[in-house]
Amino acid sequence: MIPIELSKRQEQILKIVQERGPITGDQIAEHLHLTRATLRPDLAILTMSGFLEARPRVGYFYTGKTGNRLLSEHIRKLKVKDYKAPPVVVHEQSSVYEAIVTLFLEDVGTLYVLNKDNLLAGVVSRKDLLRTSLGNKNLEDVPVGIIMTRMPNVITVGPEDSIFEAANKLIENQIDSLPVVIPVEGMKNALQVVGRCTKTTIARAFVQMGKEEVI
Ligand code: ADP
Repeated sequence: MIPIELSKRQEQILKIVQERGPITGDQIAEHLHLTRATLRPDLAILTMSGFLEARPRVGYFYTGKTGNRLLSEHIRKLKVKDYKAPPVVVHEQSSVYEAIVTLFLEDVGTLYVLNKDNLLAGVVSRKDLLRTSLGNKNLEDVPVGIIMTRMPNVITVGPEDSIFEAANKLIENQIDSLPVVIPVEGMKNALQVVGRCTKTTIARAFVQMGKEEVI
């Protein structure tokens, strides 16, 4: 259980216990001019999340473990621009055959499709390509532009967005890859592709975080 933000009262309780612990629930309640019953849910949250520990006949004491909180704050600060990989792109007019070859050569699962102005037109995933390949013999004659998921239906992230936000988009939309884009000034829906953020990107950030001392 990781409480993202403690309530004001929980912060107050934490402070009291930090300064005066070990301290009983009744004593905390007295300090806050509240009843013990009112405090019960807050004490339960603080205990379950590891901020406080309750010892029978002694009372509550501060564990010093604010790690979960620090960790979640840390995760929200990691930026896409620091973890993104280079984009792998094809053009709208490229054939499905060419796209499949690119997929293998570049060892990626999703290609970003660019229009004639080199701006984001769509994305094509391995299953999109597989689907087209089934029962279609002339893959050189089919342009990716007609099978891709096209703008404005493409889910994207910005370089300044957090990795956490990107991970959320991947999960919520059940997709593997997000083009990292920057808007072109003065042009509506015109996006320049500057990177890729995939499930692998998130896994890499996770592994790196595990190696760091963030707490
Ligand atoms: P696959 O199905 O090949 O494992 P995905 O789960 O990423 O890959 O793709 C599922 C579908 O979602 C595909 O039709 C693909 O075109 C589309 N898709 C992939 N990435 C995005 C994205 N960033 N925005 C919108 N649609 C996407």
